[in-house]
Amino acid sequence: MHVLVTGAAGFLGSHLVDRLLADGHTVIGVDNLSTGTLENLAHLTGNSGFTFQERDICQPFDVGRVDYVFNMASPASPPEYLRLAIETLRVGSAGTENALQIAARYGAGLLHASTSECYGDPQVHPQTEDYWGNVNPVGPRSVYDEAKRYAEALVMAYHRSRGVNTHLVRIFNTYGPRLHPSDGRVISNLMMQALLGEPLTIYGDGKQTRSFCYVDDLIEGILRLSRSAEHMPVNLGNPDEYTILECAKAILEVTKSRSELRFEPLPQDDPTRRCPNIARAEKLLGWIPQVSLREGLTKSLDFFQSKVQAQLATRG
Ligand code: NAD
Repeated sequence: MHVLVTGAAGFLGSHLVDRLLADGHTVIGVDNLSTGTLENLAHLTGNSGFTFQERDICQPFDVGRVDYVFNMASPASPPEYLRLAIETLRVGSAGTENALQIAARYGAGLLHASTSECYGDPQVHPQTEDYWGNVNPVGPRSVYDEAKRYAEALVMAYHRSRGVNTHLVRIFNTYGPRLHPSDGRVISNLMMQALLGEPLTIYGDGKQTRSFCYVDDLIEGILRLSRSAEHMPVNLGNPDEYTILECAKAILEVTKSRSELRFEPLPQDDPTRRCPNIARAEKLLGWIPQVSLREGLTKSLDFFQSKVQAQLATRG
């Protein structure tokens, strides 16, 4: 297949590109490098199966005939989508529509990367796909949550009204190598602090829960969904639920760090519980995550260690 990946220079996009190439597809990656980096694609230099175009998908574009589109482009971490508030709303709306138009034009399939943030601060636990969510439409996080909710509506409209073969994945917290070391996500924050010997920042009392999925597991689930006949949203994530305190403890163990914990106030609208119900993915795709938190953290250690070395070198 000839495949388009938007957001190809990002954390998930670049892992998806690697896997698609390994599976024998040719890939065209586009990215405006707003939160991604060419470093994530540097190892593909000279790979004849891959081409890259730097572009903003909010502007209409055409890369020629493709068989499938993976729409991964969007700022994804709270500090980045708060910094790029309007850009985040635009990529969820105009950008996603441009990707859908490519799929419609060429009769290609399209998978859209949605998010567990569609559930907001959930009142149903764990979250199943038929839960409509508890989102504050005007809070600071709404730029991301509502962009993603609008994008889901847009994807379903292109499926229902234009017959596009669409897939919607609601991704829960995913981590691994290439997760940006300073973009404020839990694992990257805590790994970097532990390896730098700095105190680990815990927001609130650290008893809020998260589930963490290792990137290889997620990419496998995304590919299975893209080949399926399912058009309604499917949760992908690791249902093993950890409090932030338990996660910090695992990170201290894996990094062999002696950092202390530093407690800070909880940011506004920070969800207290977040855990996927993955029964649909299990039933429809035969998918279940294989990598435990400690294994995944260990697999990510080299990457974060190299980022720490780079930071220490620039600090002199
Ligand atoms: P990321 O920031 O590493 O990657 C996103 C990429 O999209 C970046 O390379 C960025 O430069 C690019 N981009 C942003 N706006 C663009 C635009 N207008 N035009 C072209 N490129 C643009 O984030 P990620 O973690 O890899 O997330 C990828 C997708 O998965 C996002 O849609 C995100 O919302 C979704 N997601 C990720 C997670 C997670 O845990 N990593 C969880 C839920 C959803």
